[in-house]
Amino acid sequence: MIKKKIFVDMDGVLVNFQSGIDKLDETTKLKYADDGNGKSHYDDVPGIFSLMEPMPGAIDAVRRLQKMDYDLYILSTAPWGNPSAWADKVAWVTKHLDDVFHKRVIITHCKDLLAANDDAFLIDDRTGHGASEFGGRHIQFGTECFPDWSTVVDFMKSNIAYRFKANKSIGGFPNELIIEDDNIIYRTFSAIVKFKYNEISSVSVDKHSLFSDIIIKTNGGQNIRIDCFSHSVAEKIHTLILSGLEDHSQSSIDFDPIDS
Ligand SMILES: [Mg+2]
Repeated sequence: MIKKKIFVDMDGVLVNFQSGIDKLDETTKLKYADDGNGKSHYDDVPGIFSLMEPMPGAIDAVRRLQKMDYDLYILSTAPWGNPSAWADKVAWVTKHLDDVFHKRVIITHCKDLLAANDDAFLIDDRTGHGASEFGGRHIQFGTECFPDWSTVVDFMKSNIAYRFKANKSIGGFPNELIIEDDNIIYRTFSAIVKFKYNEISSVSVDKHSLFSDIIIKTNGGQNIRIDCFSHSVAEKIHTLILSGLEDHSQSSIDFDPIDS
C-alpha cells in the first residue's frame, strides 16, 4: 500500500514565529518594526529563524503522524531577502525533528507545483504561495476547523481509519465500524449490499470540501450515513453499492468487523 503524504508548513504551523521576535533585543525589534509602509518585516532579521520555538504540541503531533505511517515532508517558504533564513530553517529542522524530516525539506514560493492528488495533504496556515492551489487537500491550520495540532492529529487518524456509521444496528452489523484499508471496505460493503440490497431505495454521495459521506436510504425508512475521509474511497464505495444493487445474484461475502 502506498503511503499517504503529508506536507507540513513551518511558520505558524511547526514553528512559533512570535517566539523568535520575542527574543530580539529592543534595537533590532525597532529596526524591523516598520518596512517604510507601516508593516513589520521581522522575517528579514538575520538569524531570527534559529531563535524560534516549536508551536504547542507540534513535535509530539508530527511524531504521532509518523507512527501512523504517513510519509512526511516539510513544505515551507523562506524570505527571498534573508538568505540566512533558508539555512536557519534547515538548522531548526535538524535540531527539533531530524528523525522525521532528515533530507525531507522543500523550500519554495510555489507550493502548487508539487504533484499531489486526493491522498496528499498540506498542513498550512496560509493560502498564499500556491497553498490554496495545492493538488491534494489543504488543511488550513489555525482556522475554526483545525485550530491546533490535536485537531489535526484526530483528523489524520480518521483519515486512515474509515468510519462506518448507521443510525441503528442492521441485522447483526454493528452501527459503527472502523475500516482500515481499501480491501476491508470492499468486503464490508459487499456484505452490507448483499444483506440489504433489495431493501435499499437510493444511494448518493454527499461531497464536502475535505471528505464525503455516502447516504443509503432503505425502503424501511433507515438512513445509513458512511463517513469517508477521502473522495476517491467514497466514489469507490458508491460504485460498489450501485453494482451490488444491479447484481441481484451476489452471493455471500466474508465480513470482518474490526475493533475500534
Ligand atoms: Mg505559514
